[in-house]
Amino acid sequence: MSHPENDAHYKGLTVNKGIAQPPTVSPYLSTLHRARRKTYSVDEYVDEILQGNITLLSQAVTLVESSRPEHQEIAQQIIEKCLPHSGKSIRIGFTGVPGAGKSTSIDAFGMYLVKEGNKLAVLAIDPSSERSRGSILGDKTRMERLSMEHNAFIRPSPTAGSLGGVARKTRETIILCEAAGFEYIFVETVGVGQSETAVHSMVDFFLLIQLAGTGDELQGIKRGIMEMADGIVINKADGDNIEKAKLAQSHFKNALHLFPVPDSGWTPEVLTYSGYYGLGIAEVWDMIHRYIDFVKASGYFDQKRSEQSKYRMYETINEHLRNDFYQNPEIEELMPKLEQDLVAHRKSSYIAATEALEKYYRNRNQ
Ligand code: GDP
Repeated sequence: MSHPENDAHYKGLTVNKGIAQPPTVSPYLSTLHRARRKTYSVDEYVDEILQGNITLLSQAVTLVESSRPEHQEIAQQIIEKCLPHSGKSIRIGFTGVPGAGKSTSIDAFGMYLVKEGNKLAVLAIDPSSERSRGSILGDKTRMERLSMEHNAFIRPSPTAGSLGGVARKTRETIILCEAAGFEYIFVETVGVGQSETAVHSMVDFFLLIQLAGTGDELQGIKRGIMEMADGIVINKADGDNIEKAKLAQSHFKNALHLFPVPDSGWTPEVLTYSGYYGLGIAEVWDMIHRYIDFVKASGYFDQKRSEQSKYRMYETINEHLRNDFYQNPEIEELMPKLEQDLVAHRKSSYIAATEALEKYYRNRNQ
């Protein structure tokens, strides 16, 4: 049958020869990648950190935060070599419920320190953070002025993990920052859950940021946190809020009388300020410095740091043992059954616990 399509020379679709297309991916990208992948030796990292090189400090912190064993190995070597150069900063913990004004205050307090010629690192602990890095605590957009200062190093919380793991990474980052010459370290916590205890165990001064509220604010805060605080500051003491802030101040002062004098021998002070309008900032700093002078003179400053080191060692051991126990497959299987036995009153808590522990040890010794 004669049809154009049956012709041997027929081409249903002709493609004109076009011009060469420019590459869709920049040819320079590969060189960029190569540059970024440059690896440094442990000694190079340490030398650069000691000279205050922020880029390498930042990369070393990334190694600290990495869960890859080869990164951890280098990180641990860097930390060990930085350790003799650490310990010289003043470490301050910030806590307060979301909305209390932590980031606004850190921005204000941080600017105050930087303007006085200090170097400041801002770190955070937020074990609940599932979000990607840079969008949670310590996020640069939350500390607008500070993030523009080259003497300020802002690092968000290591992302999700166990509290112990997140706290360890922040603690190790403190060592690196101190070796890099940062005179002040701020550690921020979200003000919910257990992270306050972790922050408290790594700072010299623990600052609780409060808001003047409805008059029942004292009931709203967890007692344990007030006991941990070396200073309580009431934020947003500006405009119509000043009177309420003063009232809250006297409530807190009265409440503090009910607590025993802390081991430091320092009775926590209560101040009002406004992070947003920058009012009362110098007074808060004055309080912190008075505390530091006081505890350095009494010897408590060094004593507390030693206690903290011991606490962290035991915490690390506890966490390791806990994980080893609960992640044991036979224990994982046994626990829900024991829970059922408890609820149905078939076993006492003590007997159930003993049974689980015996199984664990039998299992381990095999
Ligand atoms: P965070 O969640 O504790 O970090 O709190 P933010 O710093 O994000 O502050 C929460 C809100 O309170 C923001 O809208 C701030 O602008 C506001 N804020 C913070 N500090 C002050 C202050 O001193 N005065 C007033 N009026 N508002 C403030």
